[in-house]
Amino acid sequence: MRSLISKVSVLAASPFLSGMGDSKDGYSYASNAHAALMVLGAISFVGVAAFVSLLVAQRNRPKMLVPGHDVRVDGSPYPPGMLAIALNAFCVDYYGTFSINAKSYLECYIYFIRGPYFETTTGVRAAGQVVGRVIKVAFVEDQKLGQTALFHELCHFMIARTSYGHGDPDHLGSVYDGWTPEHQKLILRLKHRFSQ
Ligand SMILES: [Zn+2]
Repeated sequence: MRSLISKVSVLAASPFLSGMGDSKDGYSYASNAHAALMVLGAISFVGVAAFVSLLVAQRNRPKMLVPGHDVRVDGSPYPPGMLAIALNAFCVDYYGTFSINAKSYLECYIYFIRGPYFETTTGVRAAGQVVGRVIKVAFVEDQKLGQTALFHELCHFMIARTSYGHGDPDHLGSVYDGWTPEHQKLILRLKHRFSQ
C-alpha cells in the first residue's frame, strides 16, 4: 500500500521533479515527491487565501467615482451618482478637447466647503482653490453643481497635472501659460449641463 502511494506521489509530482531526488532509490525519490507536493499544497493554499482576501477587499472598497482614477470626495452635498457623472463628463470632455491619452491624471481629493467663499491658504476669499492634489470648492444651499467652481478648479488642476507644473493662476493673462479659450468653453459646456 505504502509503495503504491509512493508511486502515485512520484507520478503526480513527476512534472515538478526534474533534478530532484535520487532516481536509484525509490524511497528517497518518493519522500522528495511528498515534500514537493506539500510545498505545492502550501503555495496553492497561500495563493487561494490571498485571492479570497483580495476579493473581500475589492467588495469592501468604496466604488470608484471615475474608473481608473483615484478621486476622493469629502463634505459633498451632491449625491455620489451625480458627482460620478459630472467627473466622468469632465474627464471625457477634457481628454477629448486637448487630445490627451486618458491616464490617471485626475487623482485628487475634492473637498466641499459650506459658504459662498472660504479663506484660501494665501488669505484670499475664494469660491474654489487647488492646493497640490486637494481641490476645495465652496457651495451654498440648493446651488447646482454646475454653479460651483468645481469645473473651473478641475481645469487648473489638469493644467498643473498634464503639462505646466502650475495651474496657470492668471488664466488668459500673460504671466503664466496653459489656460486657453478652449478651457473657458469646456467650463461653460459643463456648467450649463450640470445647472439644469
Ligand atoms: Zn481660476
